[in-house]
Amino acid sequence: MHEPAIPHLRDGDPEIAGLVEAEARRQFEKIRLIASENYVSPAVLEATGSVLTNKYSEGYAGRRYYEGQQNIDPVELLAIDRAKALFGAEHANVQPYSGSPANLAVYLAFLEPGDTVMGLSLPMGGHLTHGWTVSATGKWFRPVRYEVRADTGRVDMDQVRDLALNERPKVIWCGGTAIPRTIDFPAFAEIAREVGAVLVADVAHIAGLIAGGAHPSPVGHAEVVTTTTHKTLRGPRGAMILSTGEHAKAIDRAVFPGLQGGPHDHTTAAIAVALKEAAAPEFARYARQIVANARALAAALLERGYDLVSGGTDNHLVLIDLTNKGVPGKPAAQALDRAGIELNYNAVPFDPRTPFDPSGLRLGTAAITTRGLTEERMPQIAGWIDEAVQAAAKQDEAALGRVAGQVRDMLAAHPMPGWAPTP
Ligand SMILES: *Cc1c(COP(=O)(O)O)cnc(C)c1O
Repeated sequence: MHEPAIPHLRDGDPEIAGLVEAEARRQFEKIRLIASENYVSPAVLEATGSVLTNKYSEGYAGRRYYEGQQNIDPVELLAIDRAKALFGAEHANVQPYSGSPANLAVYLAFLEPGDTVMGLSLPMGGHLTHGWTVSATGKWFRPVRYEVRADTGRVDMDQVRDLALNERPKVIWCGGTAIPRTIDFPAFAEIAREVGAVLVADVAHIAGLIAGGAHPSPVGHAEVVTTTTHKTLRGPRGAMILSTGEHAKAIDRAVFPGLQGGPHDHTTAAIAVALKEAAAPEFARYARQIVANARALAAALLERGYDLVSGGTDNHLVLIDLTNKGVPGKPAAQALDRAGIELNYNAVPFDPRTPFDPSGLRLGTAAITTRGLTEERMPQIAGWIDEAVQAAAKQDEAALGRVAGQVRDMLAAHPMPGWAPTP
């Protein structure tokens, strides 16, 4: 049963209600290892599903273009205050619709079309919005890209500095979607200072780890920090931009009226709720457990002969290079899904294969940690991953079905926020 319950949906639109229930059961029965996903609390779900979705509030608190903001202004101010307090930032904008629009706002705030921007190459772990070719950010600006070192799998800081000195970007992005190691914010900040660039840290993946003290904070090093709110931070789909007071006006103007219309007030409320949850002492334990689980899972995979990019992990994320296993990422990911283990195929650095059929798998431990799984479980999960990857190579459907059953049995003892099986 969904929690909060959905009786009106069941009466009014049984088709959609049925799909919501089916999705909830799927999330209950699978080991969810997609590194950008999580389970939000019932409180976050309630805020997201509230009547705040009915309201229009273009503008900012005290300066709106529509009347009737008596309750919305305090909601947004609470979200802002909690964001500033949690991350120690001077300014917070909580209106971006999601991570990609938040990043676009950075371009609008600091760059003119054609200006140079520097970011980690997408196939090396960067994000589309850091200047990748197919993205507006790569079409309308002049992207230069740094990479990771072939020998270490880690960002090549010497290359970052050389490239920055030669290309003189106005904005330097650090952070990405498939970085298993700690980001050296002070080193990036020094390079940005040297070339007079604005350093922007995109911490979408690791915001929850930063909030919980399990990853160093970019605040104080990067003048601007963008993040989604729905990955390790465990809030609703949304985003925030944190900045120094100096950049507050430019950021706010870029988000509205530069890019967006009315903020999603129901999302803003849910972000506020998630930020309150992330400020509680339990959340620091949660963040540390995410990292402990990722380390334990990485160790167990290494023991089974898996090749991990950078040799392991410092955060929630593990990137597997399957080249030595004789099965590419896509068929492996599809087989794992049938075995009840959900993750995504992913390019690895210097991948000889295509982005639609790459050599790697990406996984993360935020969601399974929310389910209450701890280090002791990780060897078993690595074992199931190994079984499924071998079954994929042999096209052994029966083995995949057996693993899926064992996964279901194990997870039955670990409640999921937002849904429980009807007794
Ligand atoms: C997820 C992610 C984004 C984009 O977030 P969306 O909400 O999917 O638009 C941006 N940057 C990084 C590094 C991300 O991991």
